[in-house]
Amino acid sequence: MEGKNIPHVVVLPYPSQGHINPLLQLAKRLVSKGVKATLATTRYTVESINVANVSVEAISDGFDAGGFTDARGEDVYLKAFKDSGSRTLSNVIEKYQKTSFPVTCVIYDSFLPWALDVARQYGIYGGAFFTNSATVCSIFCYLHHGKLSLPVNPSDDKPLLLPGLPPLNAKDLPSFIKKPESNPAYLRMKLSQYTNLDDTDFILCNTFQELEGEVEKAISNMWPAKFIGPMVPSAYLDDRIEGDKGYGASLWKPSSEECINWLQGKQQKSVVYISFGSMVSLTSKQMEEMAWALEASRLSFLWVVRESALGKLPERFIDSTRGQGLVVSWCNQLEMLDHPAIGCFVTHCGWNSTLEGLSLGVPMIAIPQWADQLTDAKFIEEIWGIGSRPKEDEFGIVRADELLLCLKDVMVEGRRSEEIRRNAKKWKQLAKEAVSEGGSSDKNIDEFVQYLKSVSR
Ligand code: UDP
Repeated sequence: MEGKNIPHVVVLPYPSQGHINPLLQLAKRLVSKGVKATLATTRYTVESINVANVSVEAISDGFDAGGFTDARGEDVYLKAFKDSGSRTLSNVIEKYQKTSFPVTCVIYDSFLPWALDVARQYGIYGGAFFTNSATVCSIFCYLHHGKLSLPVNPSDDKPLLLPGLPPLNAKDLPSFIKKPESNPAYLRMKLSQYTNLDDTDFILCNTFQELEGEVEKAISNMWPAKFIGPMVPSAYLDDRIEGDKGYGASLWKPSSEECINWLQGKQQKSVVYISFGSMVSLTSKQMEEMAWALEASRLSFLWVVRESALGKLPERFIDSTRGQGLVVSWCNQLEMLDHPAIGCFVTHCGWNSTLEGLSLGVPMIAIPQWADQLTDAKFIEEIWGIGSRPKEDEFGIVRADELLLCLKDVMVEGRRSEEIRRNAKKWKQLAKEAVSEGGSSDKNIDEFVQYLKSVSR
């Protein structure tokens, strides 16, 4: 790469797995389009990044040893991150200022709106990247603009009606807006994403037009986002790109070999893959119910259970299901979803997991726990028709018999499973088209890149 006329984008994720992944993928896509990209991530997470072509710089969130878990709560963490992050992000920009690759633009995670002020100090462009669905972003945007008031908790016979969205019942709404008191710091952070959007140069969202075009139209005057997703590693979606089969970031060591060996020889679409992402902590009761459902189903399963949750599995479960299932504490999820033996994905419906399941055409069972996951689950089941959502009991638990029914719905041949598989195939194709040459998201990325190239001359 020659210097000077090549735009240089610094990409700044919130330092959790579900945020680093899509932003790192964005950096890689920009590189594939002739842009220099640098990922600026916290000292605590920098070691977990392993990518060719993207430069990596460490910044500080004020908790260099342990990151968020060392802070006393979200408010304390975000304040420290703003202070230390502004200073150390400035250092990164200054470092490149006198090289042949001065920074042209900072694309920051919308959770970190202060990064726009840093960009402005240096007279460079800034853009916010939203890691949630456009639907969820629009709900918080309506709140920010006072078009909704808290708490938002519609009754079953009077669902919430918002432009561009299907009617939403209480069970479909982000948890923080139903019960603002449940996590006020997180709610503040979600709303802070919209505070300086009028000043920002670009608004990007990890979704695609075919998936959420209605909401795009309905809210474009308040939230003029460009849809550039799904930010799933390109080799799964774009025929032009080979070999890019991972995000290039893993905060925990994946048991890849063990999983692949175990899947070896299993029949096509015969295995249930279960993962609740990087942050959810299920109750012991919920773990137990899931365990009984899996055992009773007699289906093969691969279950990611974080180390801290192993003690919540029923006694003797691992022994009694030996041969039937494998439990690991972390894996390369994409590799699993892409494996021909996997027949369905039991998911918490984090937005990355949702997009990954959808883009790889894997039918899902949606068991959302909090935040945006409840809204994603509604779309998985009812709008895109790519999965089933088991009902919860009055204590919010999905009982074993209910999950068993859903497993049959999705895994066992029959009307419902055929319909789900047909839809899954359709959405996989549409996701692929969106990011392939001339597709809706590809065009939006090209426009962004062309603009940066025109101002870097
Ligand atoms: N993931 C993974 N291995 C696992 C579980 C999850 O690589 O065993 C990845 C997954 O592919 C996704 C991310 O971690 O990209 C989780 O993001 P998501 O938005 O789904 O959920 P969160 O962890 O933010 O709740």
